[in-house]
Amino acid sequence: MTLDSSAATAGISSLSRTATIARDLIRIDTTNFGEGKSVGETVAAEYVAAKLTAMGLKPELFDSAPGRTSVVARVAGADASQGALVVHGHLDVVPAIADNWSVDPFAGEVKDGMLWGRGAVDMKNMDAMILESLHGILSSGRQPARDLVIAFFADEEAGGTYGAHYLVDKHPELFAGATDAISEVGGYSIDLAGRRAYLVQTAEKAMMWIKLIATGTAGHGSAINPDNAITRLSQAVARIGSQEWPVHLTRTTRQLLDGVARILGHDPQKISAEDLAIATGSASKFLSASLRTTTNPTVFTAGYKHNVIPDTAEALIDVRVLPGEEDAVLARIRELAGDGIEIEMVHQDVGLETDFSGPLVDAMIASLKRHDPDADVLPYMLAGGTDNKALSKLGIRGYGFAPLQLPADLDFVSLFHGVDERVPLSALEFGTATLTDLLLRY
Ligand SMILES: [Zn+2]
Repeated sequence: MTLDSSAATAGISSLSRTATIARDLIRIDTTNFGEGKSVGETVAAEYVAAKLTAMGLKPELFDSAPGRTSVVARVAGADASQGALVVHGHLDVVPAIADNWSVDPFAGEVKDGMLWGRGAVDMKNMDAMILESLHGILSSGRQPARDLVIAFFADEEAGGTYGAHYLVDKHPELFAGATDAISEVGGYSIDLAGRRAYLVQTAEKAMMWIKLIATGTAGHGSAINPDNAITRLSQAVARIGSQEWPVHLTRTTRQLLDGVARILGHDPQKISAEDLAIATGSASKFLSASLRTTTNPTVFTAGYKHNVIPDTAEALIDVRVLPGEEDAVLARIRELAGDGIEIEMVHQDVGLETDFSGPLVDAMIASLKRHDPDADVLPYMLAGGTDNKALSKLGIRGYGFAPLQLPADLDFVSLFHGVDERVPLSALEFGTATLTDLLLRY
């Protein structure tokens, strides 16, 4: 890595190889609007494939639908008898409303020592770190410790139907021999009262995207109508949206909060789980949501004219459930919805939880500590989801490990899908070095 940090800070030239790749990828708009609507990932996939080919690898491109391209390549490791590690990223990004940003979200601007743009955090940063780690290893004549399956998926931001799920269902042979996977939304540092702690993601909540459909009696807006679909639906939405779900700790969140309590000097017997999560500062935006189920209404659709009562009304609820609580939560949602409301499951995906122990976890901790010796490393549960859900169908254990050392005052978790998404250039270098280390030693 050749980083002229003063020039990079000034934004004039001499970006590192990792930052250059991340910037190039940000400049390729891969906006995913959801429900199958997308700018598409083909241009980004071809860019990534060219990088892999230049390393002497043989990437394969897969189109699940026109424009929806994923890339997979195998890398031979020093010890082929070990289970292969899937190292994956996604190529798509969520939409960006340019008017809300202080920079062009697809220009890949460099200023204030950071790379700005949609995908800088989620997750063209890690895509670049993967590519540059591999390049560093292979161009110096070395090999990763074990076989790698390098995958860049389409469509993660809409649940992976056209990306990870498609490849897992149609081309499972691509992942033959793989036992574990690493990818996004983990391995970044948070600040705990002046101490740096890295959060490795070992669990993901389950997701249930449900639609509530109310039917009633249509009629004139001036009439008395006790069977108004919108009234019924809005009451159900209000009950579900304001439901306070109980805190349930899993082995992951318990271990996380024990670690947070130890670092912050709290007695876990004397402080509630919620207060401990809040004490993590900006990271609490992620961590608080991992302690309980959430049911957020997100879309409400009804009616077509001011003086006409429609006969149906629909609402979408984004339900994120602790692993294993899906059936109980769905039963409670049915109760809360009440009579006259039909519930349709639009999209469902599994929750995941794995132990914060074993050779891969040890190797992730060791590689972080080699580059940041005094830091703590803790497990956490992601309230959202990643392509690890799809890989779990093949029995592959997934972790969030996109290592980034971040400044204490950066509200990093708000940058995921946020305005002015940006990543410190120094964090990209830290991540590339740490990831390289992991791939060489694990
Ligand atoms: Zn992502």
